[in-house]
Amino acid sequence: TAKRAHLGTSVYEPCLDQHNAAQLTVISDLRRAIDQAELVLHYQPKADLRTGTVCGAEVLCRWQHPRLGLLGPDRFIPAAEETGLIEPLTRYVLDHALAQCHTWHLTGWDVPISVNVGAQCLQDRTFPEQVAAALHRHGRPPDVLTLEITESAIIADPLRATDVLTRLRELGVRLSIDDFGTGYSSIAYLRTMPVHEMKIDRSFTTNMRSDSSSGAITRSLLGLAHNLELEVVAEGVEDEETWTALAALGCDIVQGYCLSRPLPADEFAVWLRDRMLN
Ligand code: C2E
Ligand code: CA
Ligand code: CA
Ligand code: CA
Repeated sequence: TAKRAHLGTSVYEPCLDQHNAAQLTVISDLRRAIDQAELVLHYQPKADLRTGTVCGAEVLCRWQHPRLGLLGPDRFIPAAEETGLIEPLTRYVLDHALAQCHTWHLTGWDVPISVNVGAQCLQDRTFPEQVAAALHRHGRPPDVLTLEITESAIIADPLRATDVLTRLRELGVRLSIDDFGTGYSSIAYLRTMPVHEMKIDRSFTTNMRSDSSSGAITRSLLGLAHNLELEVVAEGVEDEETWTALAALGCDIVQGYCLSRPLPADEFAVWLRDRMLN
């Protein structure tokens, strides 16, 4: 892990034990970070598995902490969920990502974006209006936006979550169920949740070639999703062999280091331009 930290500015150092004391500071500093725009958004491309065409980017949040350096989401998202700061954080990410989207639009790139939505947002009946307002503020149509939600966000209060999701869908944004297969009772909820897309968790795709049960689970999830007419994104795809295996299974979209790591907006733009020229 120490090695990874030297790879460049877009790689942060994973959580270390000696940072426990710092964790407290992290929580008390988060509110200020949101107010003072210390959160940085990175973009990771997704591609159509058959054609290799880039079809969007997932927005992943980092925190440029004034003293602790660049922190990964695992250092502050759980704390944000616990303290209620996840709602202002989600609004921040939506707002900044849609502003970026508008900038790209002006240069002729219409890159659809996927934003991770904190669990508490799905319990907030005003959330759909907040999303509509953010789209309006940046003059972006709803279909440029996919919201990634997790199963745990639904389980907390399924009826209320369904109500919020239904209104988001009516708004015209796309909905994706993230980390699928890692939560509880997921299959039962799939029938009633108005989602468009399923993301198969990295834990299955990473091991699918070496471990036959991961392969079987990936295959089953793909079958299940396609029967429900959902698009399937395989996340955490690191090598060509896995890409090929997923293509053989009929997976739709791929995301992972085999395409690119998450990149700051300017580096993402360079990456995209180079790729389109090839
Ligand atoms: P996630 O939504 O499942 O995001 C995918 C994670 O997998 C990202 O980690 C990404 O950098 C990493 N990843 C992508 N491709 C590969 C690969 O090929 N191999 C490996 N080993 N990893 C890959 P990251 O950026 O550290 O984010 C961790 C989690 O933090 C995310 O998991 C998401 O749950 C949460 N998160 C990140 N940004 C936000 C945000 O803006 N809002 C909320 N609510 N949660 C966020
Ligand atoms: Ca996600
Ligand atoms: Ca995921
Ligand atoms: Ca994950």
